[in-house]
Amino acid sequence: MAIQKENGSVSIDAQNIMPVIKRWLYSDQDIFLRETVSNACDAITKFRMLHPDTEEEMRVQVTVDSKKKEIRISDTGIGMTAEEVKKYINQVAFSGATEFMKQFEGEEGKEKSDIIGHFGLGFYSVFMVSDRVEIETLSCAEGAEPVRWVSEDGMGFELTDGSRQAHGTDIILHITKEAKEFLEPWKVREVLKRYCGYMAYPIFLEDANAKPVEKEVPVGDEKNEDGTPKTEKIMELPKPEKINDTDPLWLRKPKDCKDEEYREFYHRVFMDFEDPLFWIHLNVDYPFNLKGILFFPKLKNDFGTHEGQIKLFAGQVFVADNIKEVIPEFLMLLKGVIDCPDLPLNVSRSFLQNDGYVKKISAHITKKVADKLNSLMNKERETYEGYWDDIAPFVKYGCIKDEKFYTQVKGSLLMKLTDGKYVTLEEYKAAYFDRTEKKIYYTNDEKRQAASVKLYTDRGIGVAVLNTLIDGNFMSFLEYSGKEEDRVAFARVDADIDGLKEESEEGKDLDPEKLQSLFRAALGRDDLEVRLESLGDPEMAAMVTEDEQMRRYKEMSRIYGERFPLPDRFTLVLNRRSETVRALAGRDPEDETTKLLCRQTYDLARMAAQPLEAEEITAFLERSRKLVEMAAKQ
Ligand code: ADP
Repeated sequence: MAIQKENGSVSIDAQNIMPVIKRWLYSDQDIFLRETVSNACDAITKFRMLHPDTEEEMRVQVTVDSKKKEIRISDTGIGMTAEEVKKYINQVAFSGATEFMKQFEGEEGKEKSDIIGHFGLGFYSVFMVSDRVEIETLSCAEGAEPVRWVSEDGMGFELTDGSRQAHGTDIILHITKEAKEFLEPWKVREVLKRYCGYMAYPIFLEDANAKPVEKEVPVGDEKNEDGTPKTEKIMELPKPEKINDTDPLWLRKPKDCKDEEYREFYHRVFMDFEDPLFWIHLNVDYPFNLKGILFFPKLKNDFGTHEGQIKLFAGQVFVADNIKEVIPEFLMLLKGVIDCPDLPLNVSRSFLQNDGYVKKISAHITKKVADKLNSLMNKERETYEGYWDDIAPFVKYGCIKDEKFYTQVKGSLLMKLTDGKYVTLEEYKAAYFDRTEKKIYYTNDEKRQAASVKLYTDRGIGVAVLNTLIDGNFMSFLEYSGKEEDRVAFARVDADIDGLKEESEEGKDLDPEKLQSLFRAALGRDDLEVRLESLGDPEMAAMVTEDEQMRRYKEMSRIYGERFPLPDRFTLVLNRRSETVRALAGRDPEDETTKLLCRQTYDLARMAAQPLEAEEITAFLERSRKLVEMAAKQ
């Protein structure tokens, strides 16, 4: 016997730790495969460092044997001597244990898988699913002897001579009854695909109990009568299935990747049948190591509920989806992969939030996204405009969330006008501000507000379409945040008449006070505000406006389900250039027909801004009938 049989206890702390691992980490059982397979890949990397010119095939094989209730993880790596097993498995494993316990206190519900993986406890995660674990290993060192380590509970162990013939390690897990789902090859495949889908060495999955399947093979060089090769059917055991892509696209140099490859990768990884709009390939070596690809997806109709997916890897090992500490929150609307091999993922999330390194990565990603948008805007404006509707929600969200991002992209923010043209804020200002009291006019419902929109477009003033969920917040952001000189006001087309006024002498003699009381009496509304103005179109007698801020406030309270919604507060604007208005001003306020005409004028003005409510329409029709009758009788 080469080594003295040895029994022992792994470390003093083990008694405290094992029950914690088993009990608390129950929900993250899957990770035992990630830990063992990534250890296997690390072991191969170490072997290759010692033998860079090796011609041997390097691979990891995971064999599921449901009959024996075993999973075997086998690698062609560096292996371990008895001394190394003692050092790396028995002792070092728990060096971080005290810290682990400290971190773990009160962390119920947090990402336990991250914690366990990185206190040197990775290997011990196998005890979550096993009631016996064997290590059969042979070091690649000259003259090394194979070693076998067995433990039933992760606390006591037995070390004896092993049986492995070639350098490398087999980890054999005897799976507990509770964890028997891991004896299903499909389950193991799913977990391996998720965590190990891009690890650096080929990983094969084998079902030890697979049945032979029928296969067609050519019979020598024989041909059928029609000249096709002659085949025969034979029964054959399925070959182990390769699980991973060892050369993931994001690790290649951007200049070596073709557009089709990006698209194919996107379809495969994110299971989206649509093509992405465009993408950014992150490829940084210095001052930190960061690789990845961010895809800008085409938005589905319901962009309100749109959710992206950013997969975070640490050196080709999948860590988790959507870790918001590393990736700026607004980028979560994108889809992509980020690989940071040096990321200190060993620690809890609260640490990540305050880590300077993580902040730098996050800022770098943001900057790259801004650069890409700016370069599209400056070099391929037309293409960029084609993307705008899809990317606008996320760009706007990004601006609101991250002042720095806003500063970086503010020149590339577009607005779509009702005529389909796209303009930047600056372009809008330059084109229309001299005529509009320095406001950007917009509509959030082109159909309902069509008449009001037309008032502006007829005068050659552009009207922006701002109708997505985020636009309300985005407008407030541009109105109140950022640098003073960047601030800009927005007004819905029916908010005021500042952009529609036109100097004229007509009707200057009319008395606004008198007209106000005339309309108040006719409508029975003492609080109605009536203004007399000179509007561009003399055909138009009146219009109603609703104060922008009041209206937004009202809309907000509706969204948040206010119990007593605020009443509408319209201002009636009368056009003193209109003959109708001048005629009404000269009529007897007590006359019933005068009242009828005033009510009709008010409703017509309201209808131009938006459709009336049901009972208002009934009243309007009733009045119209009367007016027709009166006109007919004359
Ligand atoms: P970590 O991988 O974080 O160091 P682990 O508990 O997963 O912690 O593993 C402890 C150590 O055991 C590893 O660092 C490595 O030295 C050794 N080890 C684990 N698995 C293997 C393997 N398949 N081949 C060689 N050494 C291994």
